[in-house]
Amino acid sequence: MATFYDTHAHLDYPDYKDDFAEVIARAQAAGVTKMISIGTSLDSSERAIRLAEKFPAIYAAVGWHPSDAMKAPADLRPALREMCKHPKVVAIGEIGLDYHRLPSVSGAHGVTRPTMPFVVGRVTPCAPSEDDARYKQKQADIFQQQLEIAAETGLNCVIHQRDAFDDTLAQLKPFAGKVRGVFHCFGENADRMKQVSGIGSLVSFTGIVTFKNGQNVRDTVAATPLDKFMLETDCPYLAPVPYRGKRCEPAYVKEISETVAQVKNCSLEELSAATCKTAHEFFPKLIS
Ligand SMILES: [Zn+2]
Repeated sequence: MATFYDTHAHLDYPDYKDDFAEVIARAQAAGVTKMISIGTSLDSSERAIRLAEKFPAIYAAVGWHPSDAMKAPADLRPALREMCKHPKVVAIGEIGLDYHRLPSVSGAHGVTRPTMPFVVGRVTPCAPSEDDARYKQKQADIFQQQLEIAAETGLNCVIHQRDAFDDTLAQLKPFAGKVRGVFHCFGENADRMKQVSGIGSLVSFTGIVTFKNGQNVRDTVAATPLDKFMLETDCPYLAPVPYRGKRCEPAYVKEISETVAQVKNCSLEELSAATCKTAHEFFPKLIS
């Protein structure tokens, strides 16, 4: 059986609290032999590390998600620097910029995420544009701190960007040559994929490739060289067809790999060899 890695999973989320061991067993039965649990805050990163200590197949990425930027401490660097010393911490992430739910539009941030928005109960009114500017600035500040830690520790980054492609690329660019990023859940066009590869970074694809309305992503997959991308679920989100709308889990990399192999017109074995090799190069602390 061709084996694959889930390079982006949120295994510390409460969605798995009742059947965690079964979720991991199903992944392994499906040929998904390694999983990277991605941190979204310091607590979440800490939980990812605990899971990595307990399960040989699990590794951790540590970082603070941009949607929760306003809750971040003024300086994330000391805590992250410590965590990076752990042998199973393989990357900084997920980090980046997200302009999808600005305060002026939503009145709250990241409401679909299980980690809750910071603005609940806020009483001090101020102009929405000021709120937006402050939110974007805080995102940029913590992104910068985390890129610095990546450069310092020699780890690569798992990048989250939504409606912020140009700013994210611009902020990552000065680190090119020292730090590589994987633009996770990539949904941009081939031109943007080439801009990402142009600074030595990568993309990764989720279950969106299986969606009926995912043709734009399949077009980008078709244009991406076999050695320039990885596979991920982003679980518990984005379950592929035929599980769309249900809780996602790492085992479903199987369905994602089948669609990607079709689009790339290659065998599952070739896709396995290419994506696992790319993952080992990108996350050198993954054990073969
Ligand atoms: Zn994620």
